[in-house]
Amino acid sequence: MGKVTGFLEIDRQDRKYRPASDRIRNFKEFIVPLPEQAIRDQASRCMECGIPFCHDMKGLKGCPVNNQIPDWNDLVYRGEWEQASKDLHSTNNFPEFTGRICPAPCEASCTLNIVDTPVTIKSIECAIVDKAWDNGWIKPQVNPRKTNKRIGIIGSGPAGLAAAQQLSRAGHNVVVYEKNKKMGGLLRYGIPDFKMEKTHIDRRLEQISAEGVHFQGGVELGVDIEISDMIKEHDAVILACGSEKPRDLAIEGRNSDGIHFAMDFLPQQNRRVGNENLKGTKEIIADGKHVVVIGGGEIRGQIV
Ligand SMILES: Cc1cc2nc3c(=O)[nH]c(=O)nc-3n(C[C@H](O)[C@H](O)[C@H](O)COP(=O)(O)OP(=O)(O)OC[C@H]3O[C@@H](n4cnc5c(N)ncnc54)[C@H](O)[C@@H]3O)c2cc1C
Ligand code: SF4
Repeated sequence: MGKVTGFLEIDRQDRKYRPASDRIRNFKEFIVPLPEQAIRDQASRCMECGIPFCHDMKGLKGCPVNNQIPDWNDLVYRGEWEQASKDLHSTNNFPEFTGRICPAPCEASCTLNIVDTPVTIKSIECAIVDKAWDNGWIKPQVNPRKTNKRIGIIGSGPAGLAAAQQLSRAGHNVVVYEKNKKMGGLLRYGIPDFKMEKTHIDRRLEQISAEGVHFQGGVELGVDIEISDMIKEHDAVILACGSEKPRDLAIEGRNSDGIHFAMDFLPQQNRRVGNENLKGTKEIIADGKHVVVIGGGEIRGQIV
């Protein structure tokens, strides 16, 4: 445990949003990172609990990827950022994604949440990995010992990319097949830049490519390549295709004009912001319209 009395002396402080008047001028991220000393102070609030509820408790609550939260909180408090980054990457391939967009069940589970002031775990995680990129500590990890096994992964969302990185580091030859032009799945086409800019995905793709993974964009399995051919050509195939079926509402008026599934609208807007060609697409534009959103899940926050 870093500072024994940290949680008694230091109030919870978290990242703030840029003012709305700034946010509407561009599509960039609008969360303002905390200064280094503030992050270290926040890390010192961690009590390094005997039973750290922030850490996954047999899949019941806490961090779904078993991040070793109390360990890296302590390292950050001590200013040992590079070691904190190694520790964080030992359980999480892409902490810069989760540090920005994870709903942070770790904070909901933190013992200090008993009094509504959990440790700012997500901001600490994000600060560790951002610092690691800034300092060049994150490099391709190439395994020189090859197994000569060929693995095909269908889908380049976070699941496909994490599987590709792990399998390539184990020495396998990995190819990722993606039906979209660019890699990233819903990270790229569902989640808008204001929550996570696409440069974070591009930087990881460079690292994963340098580790030996091959990417084939614009290839739809079952359409461009038969799955039976894919099975023949690979020693193993991983399905990481996500879940693309929206839940419809069988109610009166459903077929009226101007009613869209969110995931017909959001990928278009992400393509527009990413300067992709929308030729041939029936565009859905919300400019100047009054919009009603049905459903209060993650998607609601994307349409602002
Ligand atoms: C609008 C929106 C906002 C979200 N916001 C958040 C958030 O803030 N925080 C959070 O934690 N989660 C959020 N999520 C959820 C998160 O994005 C998903 O849980 C995550 O992307 C799932 O990862 P995945 O790799 O399983 O699938 P996906 O990201 O869906 O990737 C699957 C990939 O497989 C490809 N594919 C499918 N079929 C084929 C085929 N036949 N051939 C080739 N390629 C194929 C698809 O094109 C896609 O690229 C959000 C989701 C949406 C829709
Ligand atoms: S539950 Fe909270 S206080 Fe306890 S170890 Fe985890 S982050 Fe630290």
